[in-house]
Amino acid sequence: MKKLLFLFIAATITVSAQQPAPPEVPEGYWTEAKSKEILDKTVTIRLAPDLSSLPPEEQAALKELFEAGAVMQKLYELQRHPEALTGFEKLRNLDARLGSPARTKNLRTLYRLFQGPIATTLDNKREPFLPVAPATPGRNMYPVDATRDEIDKFLTAHPEVRESILDPRSVVRRETKANLSLDINGLQLYPILRAMHPYYLEWLRSRQLGANGTAFYAIPYTLAYADDMITAYNHLVAAAQSLDQTDPELARYVRNRARDFLSNDYESGDASWVTGHFNRLNIQLGAYETYDDALYGAKTFHGMSILLKNEKATEELRKALGGLQAIEDALPYADHKRVREDIPVGVYEVIADFGQARGTNTATILPNDPLFTRRYGRTILLRENIMKHPEIVGATQRVWQAAVADAHAKDLDPEGSVQRTLWHEIGHYLGPNGSALGEYADATEEMKSDLVSLFALQKMNHPQLRAIQASGIRRTLQNAKPRSDQPYNTMQLIQFNWFLDKGLIAADPKTARLTINYDRYPDAVTSLLTEVLKLQSSGNKAAAAEFFQRWTTWTPTLHEKLAQRIRDAEGATRFRLVRYAALGE
Ligand SMILES: [Zn+2]
Repeated sequence: MKKLLFLFIAATITVSAQQPAPPEVPEGYWTEAKSKEILDKTVTIRLAPDLSSLPPEEQAALKELFEAGAVMQKLYELQRHPEALTGFEKLRNLDARLGSPARTKNLRTLYRLFQGPIATTLDNKREPFLPVAPATPGRNMYPVDATRDEIDKFLTAHPEVRESILDPRSVVRRETKANLSLDINGLQLYPILRAMHPYYLEWLRSRQLGANGTAFYAIPYTLAYADDMITAYNHLVAAAQSLDQTDPELARYVRNRARDFLSNDYESGDASWVTGHFNRLNIQLGAYETYDDALYGAKTFHGMSILLKNEKATEELRKALGGLQAIEDALPYADHKRVREDIPVGVYEVIADFGQARGTNTATILPNDPLFTRRYGRTILLRENIMKHPEIVGATQRVWQAAVADAHAKDLDPEGSVQRTLWHEIGHYLGPNGSALGEYADATEEMKSDLVSLFALQKMNHPQLRAIQASGIRRTLQNAKPRSDQPYNTMQLIQFNWFLDKGLIAADPKTARLTINYDRYPDAVTSLLTEVLKLQSSGNKAAAAEFFQRWTTWTPTLHEKLAQRIRDAEGATRFRLVRYAALGE
């Protein structure tokens, strides 16, 4: 018996030794349980507008535009994290080697959701889920080892390079021989870029001699991302070729933007975009928004939106606009400006979004450059298939009902949110812009627009004012304490705290549910708008810092309790992963 047992054990050992060792997942990859926590709270939104009305030329152009979009996507990921692309490549290989088990498959989904290797956790922290370095405030736009303090000191000592270092479309590098050589080689590879930037090569060479890494220099996006810019250029020129017959103005815009990518100057593209009359398609394309730069709020990140116009809704909207100057003149600040009355605004179905533009953003107004804005105006793009997506509307209602007292449960209506969103974008047209507020500029500008929207619709006595006002409060509800690098959430929290202070909202001490005193609405909005316009007009950064410090209080008894209610109501819809039918998804 003893012998038999021994044989049995020996046989077992032999069998297990013959099996290959289970493939190992290296350190630093999140476990399946950890990624599941987030994916369980993620809903997939699929956008699938009907493209059958597009003529074959435009269908062909779309294919090229999607290729340009893929470049924008890649650049966005690279801009946000130095190891994004390599980290994803390793994950993909690992996933393939292991036969795509849940663990690595989930991580690929997370990469898609967060557009890079850094996740936002359930408690709103930023954490790598792949074996890469943690996120830095400067993302991949400044040297990873440079602190704000070090760059500030350098800029103080060298005011002559301030403009180029903080340019919205340049990458900041340490002046080392290796970096300079890399950029010199890049320029030597592309005669067209050398022709476009005639003095740059000489300048880079002149810096090489004394380079020891203590100084910084800026290199334009065109040169920093030369390969990708050339690729994007080629696809855009091909798209324009297809568009010539059916939409010549759009073709012109696409060609201009293609050249902008090589010149690093967006003026021609912006001018032909904003003032263009396009037929069916519209395209937001390039690096515009600075939200991802948490170091200086200066660098713009690449993105692209390919949009299909809703002709009827656009016509109706244009008719409803008007009397903008009267609203500008009524704003509570002194130096009123002239505003153009015919703002280019359109209602669109999203066909596909890439990079910075990807997600469930409901509307945009661009460009941001004050000079181009003054010369050509700005275009407003409302994304209808996101604003009215049943999944998103339903989640918004659930959160609202969990956060407010029963008496207000029916106050919110999607049409109120559409109007508030539209006027938020118009709000960017009005008042000062406050770009001198540095890292507070984005949040202040967004808060201004929120408040101008409520102010204007109130002044017009809009027939859906109650739903608009409810939407204004819904906007301020947070599911977690905002990080200081989240401009939207931060300014929403400021509004929330201001509204509490002015008695517009009051929280039940036990449940944290809100009651709303709508009579206080006009005063709460006007008083905060007055403060915000004052900050923007003065450009006083120290005052902005103090204001932000004072109004971003977060308490466990009220804010956290309410956030918990909201998180519970959000359930599986806290994160949204967007897929696009046009991309075969
Ligand atoms: Zn905005």
